[in-house]
This record gives sequence, structure tokens and C-alpha cells, in this order.
Amino acid sequence: SLSNNLQAVFQRLRGRGRLTEADVDEAMREIRRALLAADVNVKVVRDFVDRVRVRAVGQDVLKSLTPGQQVVKIVYEELTELMGGSQARIRMASKPPTVVMLVGLQGAGKTTTAAKLALSFRQQSHRPLLVAADVYRPAAIEQLRVLGSQIDVPVFSLEGGSALDIARASLADASRRGADVVIVDTAGRLHIDEALMGELEAMKEILAPHEILLVVDAMTGQDAVHVAEAFHQRLEVTGVILTKLDGDARGGAALTVRAATGCPIKFVGMGEKIEPLEPFYPERMASRILGMGDVLSLIERAQERIDLEKAQEMEARMRSANFTLDDFQEMFRQVRNLGPLDQILKMIPGMNRVKGLENVDLNDRRFRRLEAIISSMTPEERRDPGILNASRRRRIANGSGTTVRDVNQLINQFEQIRELMKHLSGGGKRVGRRQAMNA
Ligand code: GDP
Ligand code: MG
Repeated sequence: SLSNNLQAVFQRLRGRGRLTEADVDEAMREIRRALLAADVNVKVVRDFVDRVRVRAVGQDVLKSLTPGQQVVKIVYEELTELMGGSQARIRMASKPPTVVMLVGLQGAGKTTTAAKLALSFRQQSHRPLLVAADVYRPAAIEQLRVLGSQIDVPVFSLEGGSALDIARASLADASRRGADVVIVDTAGRLHIDEALMGELEAMKEILAPHEILLVVDAMTGQDAVHVAEAFHQRLEVTGVILTKLDGDARGGAALTVRAATGCPIKFVGMGEKIEPLEPFYPERMASRILGMGDVLSLIERAQERIDLEKAQEMEARMRSANFTLDDFQEMFRQVRNLGPLDQILKMIPGMNRVKGLENVDLNDRRFRRLEAIISSMTPEERRDPGILNASRRRRIANGSGTTVRDVNQLINQFEQIRELMKHLSGGGKRVGRRQAMNA
């Protein structure tokens, strides 16, 4: 596999103090292969590898990283950078309605995405209107009507009208209904064609949309470059939505489309079901492209946001028998800064084996409870939970406004994590890194 190939190269790089040009060349060849295999466009790959090479040659190797890991880190950083920051936002009109036009090839997922987008808006207390302007595909209007009724969003169309008629009339309909967001679903073709582009251009003229979002099927891979270029040239796309990422697409389309248009990828589609759109996370996509799994993204984020020294200290303590409830609390504080906790926990090797933790879902309320319980303990109890007998537990529950059951649960989880950490430390290597290199 790709990551195996990469790892073989990185293995050979190990132990060198400084990367030579030849070391880097070899690594670059592998990275090039990996990216092509992940369906990234050839030209995009060439530019990318050049950029990485410049950074990698002659770089002093960080004390804590092997040269191979150093290259991975550079590749990963550059990939993330190239795909841009997370921009899951729609540019809103200063004077409503905000008009969003979805464009793309047939089957890309425009109609599905239109409904998902409408649902996202509705959940944010907007009043969206869906506009069915695909007059070519039989039943396309009906498809949107069905989706609209599922999510309780009105759908506008004109029986027998042209796409331009529908576009024109939709704005009047929106103002009649008091809709503040108008989402226009358009027709697609199997291939780029002039008639379609002309029609979309004319619709753009009429609608003066605030966003033109290009919907791209992630499975199209390399071919996405032509599609993206063609749409962008004619319509000046403002953003991209990548669909069908729930499948086994390798993610190359993300990089390719981004490079071809320079437009941010705003959201991703993760299934046929109508659920709110998910934001695009460049770090995750970089991991997907590199085939290393989410652990890398965890390390990366951890490096950014956790004070590194503190993290190392914490890890050392977690691996020792001296892991205390103070450390436990600190761990959750730090982990919580990284993002939604359930996702973070899934990324930590072994965490899924801690019973009950899968539904910990540390939203603020539960986190405050955890804090309250630990704060109600004496320093001695925090250092040595073994002394927590029934009467101490009762006192802590009273002091923290929780129940003895809550206290017991927390202590059980703490014990499990401590056990797990002892177990994981068996190999003597750093937990996250070992996982990253084996993924
Ligand atoms: P359109 O022709 O661009 O309007 O595409 P549709 O919205 O009709 O979608 C085409 C097919 O792709 C339908 O069967 C959808 O259910 C499916 N689809 C759309 N988005 C996704 C997605 O994110 N994941 C998966 N698995 N299927 C999707
Ligand atoms: Mg459609």
C-alpha cells in the first residue's frame, strides 16, 4: 500500500542527522507515487512535490523526529495548507435573500446537497427556499419536492417553464414567502457542454448569486480537474462541495479541485441521507490522502494547541503508575481544546476499549460535572483515589452536586484509562507516533 511504500522510504531515512538531496529525491519519488495513486491530478502533484522539496532539502532535523517523520510532517503540512483552512461558511447577503446556486455534472449530488444545505440553514433558524431549476432530467423537480417535504422546506418551480423563467420567478416567490436564503438546484450533464454552460451563465445573470458552489463527486478523482476548470472559467465558482466522501474515494479530488479553482472546499457530503452538511477539514483530508488515518491529524492538532512540554509530561505521567486524578482532569481540559471530544477519543489508540467512554460525549454540562467532582476531592484523594471509600464518595457527591453513581463512574473510567496507559506503554514508544507510523 501507499503508506507502506512511504514507510519503507522513511525507514531508510532513519538515523540521518540531516536530509541530503538524494534522501529527499527518493522520498519525493514515493510521495509522487502516493499522490498519483490517491487520484491527485498530475500537474498538481508536480507543483506540490516541488514545494515540499524546497522545504525538505537541508532542513535541520528536529530533535524529536526522525528524518522520515520530518518529511511526512512537511508533506502533511503542505497538503493541509494547500487545501486551505476550514471555511464552512456561506457568504450571506447584507440584504436578504442570500442566493446560492449549486452547479455541477449530472449525478454529482447537487439535488441531494441542495436539500442538505437547506436543512443546515433551517436548523440555524433561517427561512430557506429551494428552487428546482433542472427542467431536463425527468422527475428532477419531483425529486427535490420530495426532499423538501422531508425537511419541511418549501420548493419552488414552474411547470413547463424554462430554467431562466424559474430563476426569475423564484426571487419574487422568495420575497412573497419571506425566505432569506434561496438555494437553486440546477441541471447537470454527463459532460461539460456549451448549451449547459450558456444556460448557467444566463441564470447567474438573473440571480446574481452570492455563492456559486460547485458540487463535485469525490469519486471522480483526477478527472475533477477538467470539470472544475470548465465551471470555474465560465461561472467564477466561489466554493466547492465534495460529495460521496462516505465511500472509498481516496481524496485526491479535494486537492485537485482546490488547485484547479483556487476556491475553498466548504463542505463535504457524507451520505445519501438528508442531514446537515459537514464542514470540510483539510487536516483529515491530508491524512486520507496520505493514508495514515486520523491519528496524524490528532498529533498535528495536539502539537498546535497543547503546550508540547506539558503534553510530554502528561504522557509520561499517564504511562506511569503516578497518573492521578489531577492529571486526568488536566488531560480532559487539554483534549477538550482539540475539538469535539467524541471524535478526539476515537483517534486516541485504545480509547475505544475504555468501557462507557464512547458515550461520554463531554459536552459542557458533563464536563462541568467532571470538574466539579474532581474539585470536591481533597488533594490527597486526587493523588491516591484508592482511599476513596463509601463515605468519602458520598461527601464528594454532595459537595459537587452529583450522585455517588456519578462519582463511581468517573473513578471507574479513570482506573480504566490508567490501566490502558500502563498497557500501551509496554513497547516503550510514544503512543501516538507508533500508531501513526503503523497505520
Ligand atoms: P445531481 O444529479 O447532481 O442532482 O445528483 P443527485 O443529488 O441526484 O445525486 C445522485 C446520486 O448520488 C443519488 O443517488 C444520491 O443519493 C447520491 N448521493 C448524493 N450525495 C451523496 C453522498 O454524499 N454520499 C453518497 N453515498 N451518495 C450521495
Ligand atoms: Mg439533480
